[in-house]
Amino acid sequence: MNICVVGTGYVGLVTGAVFADLGNDVVCVDNDAVKIADLDGGRMPIYEPGLEEMVARNVADGRLTFTTDLAAAVRRSVIVFITVGTPPKSDGQTDLTAVEDVARGIGQAMERYTVVVNKSTVPVGTGEFVREVIERHQASPVAFDVVSNPEFLREGSAIEDTLRPDRIVIGAPTQQVAMTLLELYAPLERPMIITDVPSAEMIKYASNAFLSTKISFINAIANICELAGADVTQVMKGMGLDPRIGSAFLAAGLGYGGSCFPKDTDSLVHTAATLGYDFAILKAVVEVNRERAAHFVDAIVKALAPLDGRVIAVLGLAFKPNTDDMREAKSVEVVERLLELGATGGADAVALVTEWNEFKFLNLERLRGVMRRPVVFDGRNVWEPERMRRLGFEYHSIGRKPVLPS
Ligand code: NAD
Repeated sequence: MNICVVGTGYVGLVTGAVFADLGNDVVCVDNDAVKIADLDGGRMPIYEPGLEEMVARNVADGRLTFTTDLAAAVRRSVIVFITVGTPPKSDGQTDLTAVEDVARGIGQAMERYTVVVNKSTVPVGTGEFVREVIERHQASPVAFDVVSNPEFLREGSAIEDTLRPDRIVIGAPTQQVAMTLLELYAPLERPMIITDVPSAEMIKYASNAFLSTKISFINAIANICELAGADVTQVMKGMGLDPRIGSAFLAAGLGYGGSCFPKDTDSLVHTAATLGYDFAILKAVVEVNRERAAHFVDAIVKALAPLDGRVIAVLGLAFKPNTDDMREAKSVEVVERLLELGATGGADAVALVTEWNEFKFLNLERLRGVMRRPVVFDGRNVWEPERMRRLGFEYHSIGRKPVLPS
């Protein structure tokens, strides 16, 4: 099938590469000429395990190409995916400028029936908006349909998630249009759910809001554990074994960051308010998350005060392991606060912010040996308090009793 994917970022590049790998003819479009030139030269704009090899293989086989020419790409395609960014505005509302620009370009270019699929995360009602924009910009009326096919991939395992998604959500205006997408996804042999367009748009936000709620919930429990002398990692285990709850996303730490959860929770709060509903639960989730970095730094201040001139090594900068994505990374908040308080980089203390495997398996004996004062602040609970005690560390983690010098 001839496909075009507009917006060659995390979602667009991975989606394009996977569809090409399944045997489709894919053109990836972007308005960033440097990015397209890099991709043409075999240079990846992002790090994602397995991506470079998959892109190289499909480019070599002639199934995957890159361009800045949206009109030409649209004209040769049966299906056009929109995968551009949908960043937040300052009031939490989703900025649909890029989606609107692309819809306008599709409308102007379209010469025959096309299925336009919105894969960007967009507020409920955007499918209808995209349809109106395309219609308004067509030189002469050409039939088309707009489908919502939200993306659930996680950075760091994007290829794997795209090849083996838990579910594929297809929000289509008619069964017949849904069939086009079913056919495209059929080789993956994964569960598919067909809905109307607004419900598909809502599934994406409801899913991210629910996962964010789990994270903020266990972080609030961690706060109580710290006050009560309980151990949140044991509480997590005890809760997670209940299949109605499950252990996924039930890890206390520095809270959620990245380019999706913060903006999607804010956006849903905003959408709800626009529709006349006060989404109080989700507002509380956002507030708990907002306090996480400050809470972590407070623990550092309490143990090391004053921070003036202290040297603190921060382990882990990306918003989570296995990615180079720094958008909304907790490390930025933590480091900014530490710098404000007078600390610099190096090592009176170590603060773990992102749980890369490299840090989990760090040689702690060696670390202990090179530190001026063996104080560790673990924002992700990757080390065992008892082991840290044995090794002679002062150890502060999340929702657990600190290990203090005897
Ligand atoms: P990204 O910023 O990595 O990529 C977006 C790309 O779109 C950029 O390369 C940009 O140059 C391009 N672009 C912007 N305007 C354009 C235009 N007018 N024409 C052509 N190209 C244009 O973004 P992303 O992380 O891939 O996210 C894309 C969408 O997918 C967002 O709505 C996001 O919420 C959603 N999403 C992201 C993830 C994720 O983990 N990153 C997961 C699920 C859903």
